[in-house]
Amino acid sequence: MIRFEHVSKRYADGTSAVDDLSFEVAEGELVTLVGPSGCGKTTTMKMVNRLVEPTSGRVLVEGRDVAGVDPVQLRRRIGYVIQQVGLFPHRTVLDNTATVPQLLGTGRARARARAAELLELVGLDPSVHGPRYPEQLSGGQRQRVGVARALAADPPVLLMDEPFGAVDPVVRERLQNEFLALQSRVRKTVLFVTHDIEEAVRLGDRIAVYGQGRIEQFDAPATVLGAP
Ligand code: ADP
Ligand code: ADP
Repeated sequence: MIRFEHVSKRYADGTSAVDDLSFEVAEGELVTLVGPSGCGKTTTMKMVNRLVEPTSGRVLVEGRDVAGVDPVQLRRRIGYVIQQVGLFPHRTVLDNTATVPQLLGTGRARARARAAELLELVGLDPSVHGPRYPEQLSGGQRQRVGVARALAADPPVLLMDEPFGAVDPVVRERLQNEFLALQSRVRKTVLFVTHDIEEAVRLGDRIAVYGQGRIEQFDAPATVLGAP
């Protein structure tokens, strides 16, 4: 579903972010990318939805080289959740969530009904949280809205970049558990970036352990933990 073939990225200032990366993520698989800050995890992820272009090598999504896919079309197939989700501050939670279906041509009433379903899917109550504004939510709730919005176009692929990184440990654990329950229902192909090995182990079907600019190990959690 996602395939990296000998991908390297060198930024304009000469920084080598990733070097000769090759790996595959199967359909419905959740792969966590884990490693210290600056080792190339976010760069890897951004090459999937063309926020960053590789210097060499190819990235394929659903069998197609993304270099040949229009970025707008590509991003409809790929949901994206980042650490501080950017919600529209002057729109309610329901409207924030309904925006994507509306942009894709769904009528207002149906888009709002779909938004309510999505909020429920991520553990929010549409009648309670839907009419609120983003600033009236807790950090954990805002991240849930970010997940709901990323799922709005029903994309087969989900990119998550430290989505639970900015909330406290208790809330984080709850969000992780909710996300696992959600993933068992929706079965997206997921790349999930974290610097927290516990999170990587808890969530990942497989774990890509990064060193500087490369993947040092790519295995199931038990194997990674059992490694010397
Ligand atoms: P991680 O997500 O693991 O923290 P990143 O992919 O963000 O790592 O960064 C990998 C390396 O590339 C780091 O050295 C970082 O400073 C560098 N880098 C990231 N983005 C840019 C950029 N736009 N321009 C130059 N260097 C960058
Ligand atoms: P979560 O575990 O979902 O992050 P919190 O424990 O932070 O939630 O918040 C608990 C409750 O307090 C929630 O029901 C949330 O709606 C409410 N709440 C948190 N922050 C605010 C706020 N700024 N304004 C109104 N209600 C809030």
